[in-house]
Amino acid sequence: MNHIEENLSKIKTSLDSFKESGGDICLIAVSKTVGVESVEKAIECGVENFGENKVQELVKKYDVIGDRAKWHLIGSLQTNKVKYIIDKVELIHSLDRDSLAKEINKRAKDHEIVSNCLVQVNISKEDSKHGLDESQVVSFVKNISEKYGNIRIRGLMGMAPFLNDKQESRRYFRRLKELSKELEALNLKNISMDYLSMGMSNDYEIAVAEGSNMVRLGTSIFGARQYK
Ligand SMILES: *Cc1c(COP(=O)(O)O)cnc(C)c1O
Repeated sequence: MNHIEENLSKIKTSLDSFKESGGDICLIAVSKTVGVESVEKAIECGVENFGENKVQELVKKYDVIGDRAKWHLIGSLQTNKVKYIIDKVELIHSLDRDSLAKEINKRAKDHEIVSNCLVQVNISKEDSKHGLDESQVVSFVKNISEKYGNIRIRGLMGMAPFLNDKQESRRYFRRLKELSKELEALNLKNISMDYLSMGMSNDYEIAVAEGSNMVRLGTSIFGARQYK
């Protein structure tokens, strides 16, 4: 826990070195399994955005920390849990099916808000990973643009497969960047490609070099996770 400040400073230096070429990179500190006191520490160090992959854990931390942080739901989201987070999150990274879009739209409408979402794409094509197949993304996004007025798509999210050779992940990131350019060119209502959420502790520098402007880092900030 005492290393958080040091870890963040290293990450900041690394991200700053990319900044010159591509503009701001949003750091999301992935705080899953990490205690509230570590989140507080990261806030003290200037971190604004936190990512959680479970609704229950996000809500628990939100109850303590609230609006002192911006919360991102980065894990797969069950339709019946949307109602617990809809008014608490800055961005949902894991929109990957119509039933979920429908529910997010409904709950956002109830709260009279527009929900910011990223479409999760299964770039690694691993069955275990969530996300839409690449070939479905354009029609999925068009449908949202036409049907769901309380959803705004702000970009794409993807994860590279786990590879022994990190450099191999480069082509997956490159493909997601291409896809986001294709979508941007369509100029659809309520769809913008502001964010490309890709890159985790072990591959974020490659992701950023390939156009990511939103990295989700857990281990490299908080250390190895201890699952209870
Ligand atoms: C856990 C998690 C991360 C962070 O992983 P690290 O390897 O610890 O940086 C990023 N994205 C998602 C979706 C995660 O579930």
